[in-house]
Amino acid sequence: MFKKILIANRGEIACRVIRTARRMGIQTVAVYSDADADALHVREADEAVRIGPPPSSESYLRGERIIEACKETGAEAVHPGYGFLSENAEFARALAAAGIVFIGPNVEAIAAMGDKIESKKLAAKADVSSVPGHLEPLRDSDEAARIARGIGYPVMLKASAGGGGKGMRIARNDQEAREGFRSAQNEARSSFADDRVFVEKYIEEPRHIEIQVLGDAHGNVIYLGERECSIQRRHQKVIEEAPSPFLDERTRQAMGEQAVRLAKAVGYRSAGTVEFIVDRDRNFYFLEMNTRLQVEHPVTEIVTGLDLVELMIRIAAGEKLPLRQEDVQLSGWAIEARIYAEDPFRNFLPSIGRLVRYFPPEGAGIRVDTGVYEGAEISMFYDPMIAKLVTSGPTREAAIRRMRDALDAFHIRGVSHNIPFLAAVMTKPRFVEGRLSTNFIAEEFAGGFTGADLPAADVSQLVAVGAVVQRRVAEREASISGQLPGRGAKIDESWVVVLGEEQHEVRVTREGGLYLVASDVSRHEVATEWQPGNPLLHVTIDGNPSVWQIEREGTGFRLFHAGVSSLVRVLRPQAARLLALMPVKQPPDLSRFLLSPMPGLLVRVSVSEGQEVKAGEELAVIEAMKMENVLRAERDATIGAIKAKAGDSLAVDQVILEFQ
Ligand code: ADP
Repeated sequence: MFKKILIANRGEIACRVIRTARRMGIQTVAVYSDADADALHVREADEAVRIGPPPSSESYLRGERIIEACKETGAEAVHPGYGFLSENAEFARALAAAGIVFIGPNVEAIAAMGDKIESKKLAAKADVSSVPGHLEPLRDSDEAARIARGIGYPVMLKASAGGGGKGMRIARNDQEAREGFRSAQNEARSSFADDRVFVEKYIEEPRHIEIQVLGDAHGNVIYLGERECSIQRRHQKVIEEAPSPFLDERTRQAMGEQAVRLAKAVGYRSAGTVEFIVDRDRNFYFLEMNTRLQVEHPVTEIVTGLDLVELMIRIAAGEKLPLRQEDVQLSGWAIEARIYAEDPFRNFLPSIGRLVRYFPPEGAGIRVDTGVYEGAEISMFYDPMIAKLVTSGPTREAAIRRMRDALDAFHIRGVSHNIPFLAAVMTKPRFVEGRLSTNFIAEEFAGGFTGADLPAADVSQLVAVGAVVQRRVAEREASISGQLPGRGAKIDESWVVVLGEEQHEVRVTREGGLYLVASDVSRHEVATEWQPGNPLLHVTIDGNPSVWQIEREGTGFRLFHAGVSSLVRVLRPQAARLLALMPVKQPPDLSRFLLSPMPGLLVRVSVSEGQEVKAGEELAVIEAMKMENVLRAERDATIGAIKAKAGDSLAVDQVILEFQ
C-alpha cells in the first residue's frame, strides 16, 4: 500500500479523500492556490504545497506543477477528486511517465470516454442501448436540420466535448435545429476549444439514472446499484438519491449489466459512472461515462456500506476487488442535497464572502461533506459549493424527513445560500411521491424561485413558537434580576404576537416543562430547552419535534423553518394597542436604480445616458464566479446618470446607473 498520496484538488472532495487516507494510515499532501492558503483541506492534510495564484488555470489545472509537488514531497500516488484534472488523459499519462500512480482509471478508458461521439460508438459496439441519433459531427446548420428531421423532433444538439451541461440545445423544428446547431457550436468552441456538434433524439420527461461501477486491474468489474439525479437545474444536478424510486429489480439489473459490459469494453479500472436517461416506460439509454469519482458518490456509499475512495486507492495499488457482484447488498435510502453559496431569491446568482456563521447539522443518519469552516471565505475563483448534505434512513420517507430537519438546522450566515430552495423542493408533493423528471425544477418552479413557492408558514405554530420564545426570555430575565426571596418576578401570561399586519392574542402558561399556548383559535403544548442567544431552537409542538433557527431583529425575532423566514414580534397587550398608532416606515424606492445583484466585475455598460430602453433589453454585464450575468431592463425606461464603468469591481447593491 502507498505510504503517501497527494490530492490534486480542493474543497470538500480533497477533505473527503484525506479522511479515508488517514483512516488507512496513509500520509496526505494537499496542494493549494494563494486563494486557498487557509482552506480546510490544507489544514487537514499532513503536508501542503503551494502551486500557484488563485485562477485554476494557474494552479489546480497545472499538471506539471502537481507532478513537481509529488516529487518534492515523495508522494507515490495522486487522487484527482472530481473536476480539474480528474478526466484529463494527458495528466494521467504524464503521471505514469513520472512513475507516479494515478488513483483513477487507465488512460485508454479516460480517452475513450472523454468524447461523447466516440463513447457512444463504443457503447453501440458493446451492445449498450444508446439514444437514437447520428454519431458524426454535423457539418453545418442545413445538415443539422436535415438529420434532425430524419431522427424526428424533438432532438438535442450536443457538443461532443461537452460537460457540465454546456453546449446542449433542444430543437423542436428545423429552424430551432439550425439555431441550436449554431449556438451549441459557438459554446463548444469557446468552452472546450472543440466545435464538433452531433444530434440525437430528445427523450421527453426523462429521468437521469446512473450506475456506479468499480473495476480492478485484474479484469473484475461490478456495479453498485444506481443513483437517481433527475432533480437538475439547467442540466446540473441539485439533489441525488440512491436507490431510484423508479427502477424495478429487472431494470436495475439490466442497466447494471450493460454498464459493466461497457466498462469491460474499455478495460476499466477504478470507480466510474455510467449515465443513462430513462423514459416513462423504463426504456433506458446510455448518455456518457464519467471516468472519476462523482460528486454524489456518498449516497452509494451509504446504501452499499462501502467506502469508494478506499476502494479506488486499493485498486490503484494493484489489489483485487474485495467483493463479487453477488456480495453487493443495497439497504436503506440516502439523499444528497448540494448546498451552494448562491441566492435563490435572485435567480441563483453566486454569492461570495465570509462564512460568518457555519454550523452544520449533526446526528444519526446525517453526513455532511464540506471543505469550509466558520470564518472561511467563499471565493469567486471556484465552484461555490459549501457542502453536501446527505441524509439516510430505512425508507425514502425517513430519509426525506431527516433531510427536512437537517436543512432546518443547517446554520449558515455571511453568504446567501440555497437552503430555502432545497427545503421547498423537499416539501413538493411530487418530490415526496417520487414522480421525478429532469424537468422537475423547471415545471415546479415555473416562474423561477420566489418565496411564494414555499408552503405558507403554519401561522398557529409560528404564533406558539414566538410566544414561547418570549416566555423563555422573560423567565431568563426574571432569574437573573436578583429578586428578594418570596418576591420573585412576576412573569406576564398575556401577550400579543404580531406577524406583519396580523395580531394574535395569546396566553402562555407553564406546567412543569411544558408551555401551554392558547389563542382564540388554537391551543398548543410546546416543550423546549432553548436559551436566549442560541441560534437553534429545538421545539416539540404537540409531541412533534422540529428545528427552527432564530435571530434577534429589531424588537422582534426572525424565525426560519422549512425554507420560510418570518419576523415575529411579541408585545404586551398595551404596546400592541399603541403599535397601531405608530407611523409606518416606507422602504426607499430603489426601482429608479440598477443595482449590482452580486459582487463582481463590471464587464460592460451596454447603454448610454438618455437612451430609451425596452423591457428585456441588456443594460450591463457583470462577471462573477467565471460566469457572465446579463442585467436586463425590467420595464421600458430612459437611462439617466451612469455611475459605474467597465472594469469596476462592484459590491452587492452598488448603483450601476439611474433611470430618469
Ligand atoms: P454533460 O456532460 O454536460 O453533463 P450529459 O450528456 O451528461 O451532459 O447530459 C446532462 C443532462 O442533460 C442529462 O442529465 C439530461 O438531463 C439531459 N439530457 C442529455 N441528453 C438528453 C437527451 N437526449 N434527451 C433528454 N435529455 C437529455
